[in-house]
Amino acid sequence: MNPYQSEKQHIVQTAQELVRKGYLMATGGNISLRIPGEDAFAITPSNYDYMLMTPEDVCVLSLELEPLSGERKPSVEAAMHAAIYGVRADVHAVIHTHQVYASALTLIDAPIPALFDEQARFLGRSVDIIPYAPSGTGMLKNKIAKHVQNHNNAFMMKNHGALIFGHDLERAVHNVEILEKCSLAYLLAICSERKVSKIPLAVREIAFSKLRKDQKKIAAGDFETDGE
Ligand code: 13P
Ligand code: ZN
Repeated sequence: MNPYQSEKQHIVQTAQELVRKGYLMATGGNISLRIPGEDAFAITPSNYDYMLMTPEDVCVLSLELEPLSGERKPSVEAAMHAAIYGVRADVHAVIHTHQVYASALTLIDAPIPALFDEQARFLGRSVDIIPYAPSGTGMLKNKIAKHVQNHNNAFMMKNHGALIFGHDLERAVHNVEILEKCSLAYLLAICSERKVSKIPLAVREIAFSKLRKDQKKIAAGDFETDGE
């Protein structure tokens, strides 16, 4: 078997699933996965049709961005993915999308407070908006590396899209879906011009503490999360 074949295959399957579900469009967004036991990650190539993608098109880079495998140019956001793995030991999968409803909230500067129990449990205390910097720049990478240290698993990038983490790709995909559900519900609630209610603070904190417990286990090398 080719080196990194299973990670490459997993990335392609996930990218195509996200296209089918409508979270990735055209060539926007990118997906990466940590390589177990190495300071390295697999990432989608830049500007390449997800539905034509095969495992051979996926790139593997060290966290210092040295190419380890793959002929194609890696995503322009590769440095951002590497920076996230550098500061978040609990994160093993990163998905960046241009999903529509979360993107819309970035246009009106509307971070999402804790609205639903499952949001606090899996995405964190809130979904914050990371200030604007152009795609693929060191400026964007630096802003993201700073913001993601608050332990949340979902962020919105101003006038750009969304950034979602998981301890594996399946969890990251579920988190993409939770984020889009929250974004649409929040957008509709805002449009009603009525007061938007949040979950009680104590419930938010209990849910977030479960997420933190999982994160600490994963960062310590234990992949069994509680899941409740
Ligand atoms: P890549 O095709 O290079 O991954 O860029 C897409 C993108 O979403 C940039 O932010
Ligand atoms: Zn993008």
